[in-house]
Amino acid sequence: MTFDLATRLAERRAAHLYRQRPLLEGPQGSEVVVDGQALLAFCSNDYLGLANHPEVIAAMRAGAGRWGVGGGASHLVIGHSTPHHELEEALAEFTGRPRALLFSTGYMANLAAVTALVGQGDTVLEDRLNHASLLDAGLLSGARFSRYLHNDAVSLSKRLERAEGNTLVVSDGVFSMDGDLADLPTLCAEARSKGAWMMVDDAHGFGPLGATGGGIVEHFGMGLDDVPVLVGTLGKAFGTAGAFVAGSEELIETLIQFARPYIYTTSQPPAVACATLRSLELLRTESWRRDHLNKLIGRFRAGAAEIGLSLMDSPTPIQPLLVGDSERALQLSALLKERGLLVGAIRPPTVPAGGARLRVTFSALHSEAQLERLLDALAECWPQVNRDA
Ligand SMILES: *Cc1c(COP(=O)(O)O)cnc(C)c1O
Repeated sequence: MTFDLATRLAERRAAHLYRQRPLLEGPQGSEVVVDGQALLAFCSNDYLGLANHPEVIAAMRAGAGRWGVGGGASHLVIGHSTPHHELEEALAEFTGRPRALLFSTGYMANLAAVTALVGQGDTVLEDRLNHASLLDAGLLSGARFSRYLHNDAVSLSKRLERAEGNTLVVSDGVFSMDGDLADLPTLCAEARSKGAWMMVDDAHGFGPLGATGGGIVEHFGMGLDDVPVLVGTLGKAFGTAGAFVAGSEELIETLIQFARPYIYTTSQPPAVACATLRSLELLRTESWRRDHLNKLIGRFRAGAAEIGLSLMDSPTPIQPLLVGDSERALQLSALLKERGLLVGAIRPPTVPAGGARLRVTFSALHSEAQLERLLDALAECWPQVNRDA
């Protein structure tokens, strides 16, 4: 009589929180086929359009030919191969940090960094809107864990005053569901003044932000002393898979010695590292991708304001439309789908209660004409779901 899963699932459905996986029947791109329907998509994190880039594909093919498919073992045993090593050196150079360490996913990089740095007797302070992997890492660490108000240095400061032991302040760089930027100049100064370390997870900033795609730290010019622990993921703007932590020699050696999610897992396929080496080059050098994205973002915000959409305070390719109610967010997504557009409804617990939204994202692959199609459809559909709100 245990495990009444049917009731649990029924409750989730009744609350309009049930999740379904759209089946993608081809590669990422602006035009996709999902569940047999051709759709114009505004919901992937492939911001620079590198996930299906011919040169990145060729690098992965050549990598598999040379290095085989499987990583074969953990990095500490016999799974750390030349492409992994070269990618770490390239990422260190790219981020301007002494070293970088490669992980198979961002989720694991975050668990690894937080749990290796703080434990019982220490303190971890996180923005309340941080990515789930960072919040989970804080809980898993066993350190005293507290969440400060979003992007609020005063709220952080109060918690820093009561902090014990080694103290780690953790923030998304670009907030994944809101698209706004962490106020790093203020937050880092606050952390430094209290002797705490700042860790920034810039999964969504690397690529779109900074003159060479170096993310929020490049955008604000923050060095190693401001952000001793810098995390990036490779499955978003890099278009491949994996993640990295960049920092000092001692930080990286500490992770190699003590971070269980680093030690006890198989290395990523080396061919993926070969693909990322190529996509890193494209990300850094093809600044037209960032320029085009910024043009799309500017046009979308102006167009959305004209038709009265509730935009959030975001300068990034993440341009969520706040709806509030989960059922209405689902309705809006369904209405857009009837018009051939795919934009996912993001609901609690991914976002706070009452914060359901359409998470519109742009890619360098979107044309201006496609953007106008989105605005036209929103002008029609938005009033339909907000009429009796
Ligand atoms: C996507 C994401 C992650 C997880 O990265 P994966 O490589 O997909 O596991 C971590 N942090 C943030 C802020 C993210 O958006």
